[in-house]
Amino acid sequence: MLEDNMKFASVIIDQDAKALDRVFEYIIPKEMEIKIGQRVVVPFGNRMLQGFVVDIKNTCEYDVKKLKSINLIIEDYPVIKSEMLELMNFMCEKYHLKLASILRLFLPSHMREGKVKELVVKYVELKKIHENISKNAKKQAKIIEFLEKNGKCLFSEVSNEFGYSPLKALIEKEIVRVFEKEINRKPSFSVEEDKRVNLSNMQQNAVDSINGEGVYLLHGVTGSGKTEVYMHLIDRELKNNKTAIMLVPEISLTPQVLSNFKARFKEDVAILHSGLSAGEKFDEWRRIFFGEAKVVVGARSAIFAPIENVGVIIIDEEHEQSYVSESNPRYATHDVATFRAKYNKCPLVLGSATPSIDSYSKAEKGEYKLIELPVRANGKELPKIQIIDMLMELRNGNNNIFSSQLMVDLYNVVNNKKQAMIFINRRGFSSFQRCRDCGYVAKCTDCDISLVLHKEDNRLKCHYCGKQFRVLDFCPECKSANIKQGAVGTEQVVEELKKLFPDVNVLRMDNDTTSTKNAHQKILTEFKNSKPGILVGTQMIAKGHDFEDVVLVGIVDADQSLYTGDYRSIERTFQLITQVSGRAGRSQSEGKVVLQTYSPRHFVYRFSANYDYLGFYKKEANLRETTLFPPYSLVLRILFSHENENIVSQETKMCYNEIVNLRSEHEKDFIFLDAMKSPLKRIKNKFRYQILMRLRLDNAKEIENKVFNIIDGKNFKSSVFFELNPQNLT
Ligand code: ADP
Ligand code: ZN
Ligand code: ZN
Repeated sequence: MLEDNMKFASVIIDQDAKALDRVFEYIIPKEMEIKIGQRVVVPFGNRMLQGFVVDIKNTCEYDVKKLKSINLIIEDYPVIKSEMLELMNFMCEKYHLKLASILRLFLPSHMREGKVKELVVKYVELKKIHENISKNAKKQAKIIEFLEKNGKCLFSEVSNEFGYSPLKALIEKEIVRVFEKEINRKPSFSVEEDKRVNLSNMQQNAVDSINGEGVYLLHGVTGSGKTEVYMHLIDRELKNNKTAIMLVPEISLTPQVLSNFKARFKEDVAILHSGLSAGEKFDEWRRIFFGEAKVVVGARSAIFAPIENVGVIIIDEEHEQSYVSESNPRYATHDVATFRAKYNKCPLVLGSATPSIDSYSKAEKGEYKLIELPVRANGKELPKIQIIDMLMELRNGNNNIFSSQLMVDLYNVVNNKKQAMIFINRRGFSSFQRCRDCGYVAKCTDCDISLVLHKEDNRLKCHYCGKQFRVLDFCPECKSANIKQGAVGTEQVVEELKKLFPDVNVLRMDNDTTSTKNAHQKILTEFKNSKPGILVGTQMIAKGHDFEDVVLVGIVDADQSLYTGDYRSIERTFQLITQVSGRAGRSQSEGKVVLQTYSPRHFVYRFSANYDYLGFYKKEANLRETTLFPPYSLVLRILFSHENENIVSQETKMCYNEIVNLRSEHEKDFIFLDAMKSPLKRIKNKFRYQILMRLRLDNAKEIENKVFNIIDGKNFKSSVFFELNPQNLT
């Protein structure tokens, strides 16, 4: 029997457990005022758990006699806004994620864990009308005098200055009033002057064309002034009383970028990035939530900012890998941004000098609108890129890290008291084998993808099909036994440079030298003041930095990103070269890039040296189409991990067998299917196995859902992750 006016809440329990991954019903106590999106505490089994109210209804589906009541409300406002609830459903459908794990993305983690609170500060001030005090109370008189002069003051300040007891006496006599005020912990950083510029015609055109709903791909060469375009767009939307989200890769959230936005948009900006303290994050989040901040600038996760009435969403450097979350919950920022832009009926702008193949192909198909900025804002030419054949260097007897050309150019830089950057192309764990005489690199016979050397079992492996090959003793092309593996490291390069230029300041920037807070900034400042100076670094120096006196960029072994055993490796190499080259000759001086490679005839170098993005795109897209890799197919990986290898391997096998059955009904949709150990077989004491498949696009979603249902219907002991077009397969 339902009592009159009974209300029920649908609650998602805030636990990352598969068994709890659904909606539970609770009775809303009569006296409780509750709204959708609020966090609550509910009884569950014999525990009290936190949860999110996602619906409120007049009826219930479950037996009402067995229903329990909500215990209490956590915050007095709904922390999950209705847009975010819809986003949750979208992400659940798209990525097969657990509901609670999605909702957790929407809140600062410390808030959920109850570890962070508003910062409340006590103030004191004189009451307007108050009685006189006795002449003997000298200290009290001093306080009154002080407050008369200064108005309201910090409680702590007054009590430190004049003592706690006279202040307390005044409060008890109701001469002084105490009140509390909430303080925002604002991230502090230096803000320079706002350098406003007039837009060029091309920039203005870009701003004007980005109007109304849809996705816009802003393809602008390095230095074309995309940031100015973004800022003008945001400005326009603020004038329309709207808000904006601006995403940049974490690595380019440099003080310079933050300062630029702060200078332009002042108090309207909220910054979200990993360097903030929990308190700062929480306060920035609340400034956004309550509409005080209108522009959100941040890395990937800022796409979940609780901002309403969005007028434009911008993803800068849209091709960056960091926009895809590779740890659980796995999601792609582009998808989330597309959803939010649609919901808010506003434009989504994807900006890059080297759009991803995926995005550009969407522009080609007309799904995205393409806008081009083909010249630099300051009218300067892009630096000349010279390709150096390192095999030729070897043949000519030069066994060094540096080619003779790079050596000559470095000497010139040093003599002219200018600066150079040496870029070491390092990509995670990968390494490949290469013939030092003809440049041959081993590839998988089935997938046409370069093989990765696994030292622990001394095999070459294909990450896309698991096939294994013997390591090379001699080159199958030219029979040479001069096989080389392993990459040059930053340290080695620095040492070499110090020998060549003992009087020059040679700085190093990589993971090892930037682990401490502010180390990054310190190195950059020191480099800025070193003339001549040489900065050696990894991907970290590839973007964002604007050094006037850098006239030379050396890329020591460009091939390192080319043979990572990933179908995106050619695309990434093109992006890296373009980006690194953009560091040279940004102001008055002419810039130059020296690119050293053992595969000088690879098309990626030809196109990047000519800054021919379109030519590169056509060639690469064509290659993907022939070899059936994304965006012309869907790669799906299901990763199993557990401490007990028997369990992982059995559970993987069981799923695999069912997927094999599924394939027999959909033979033509499967390009590839196999189960195997992951390339990195064991991480943190857990064994990892995977099922890999490549699907034709026509029925990809249908197959994907069927595969997911196979997984979802089981109770695994292993942790199971489902990945679409994963960024890497290690
Ligand atoms: P991108 O992000 O496209 O690589 P930036 O936004 O960093 O390019 O701009 C490159 C440089 O050009 C910056 O120093 C910027 O201040 C300057 N700039 C941008 N737009 C203009 C303009 N319209 N006139 C003069 N300088 C500009
Ligand atoms: Zn060879
Ligand atoms: Zn293969």
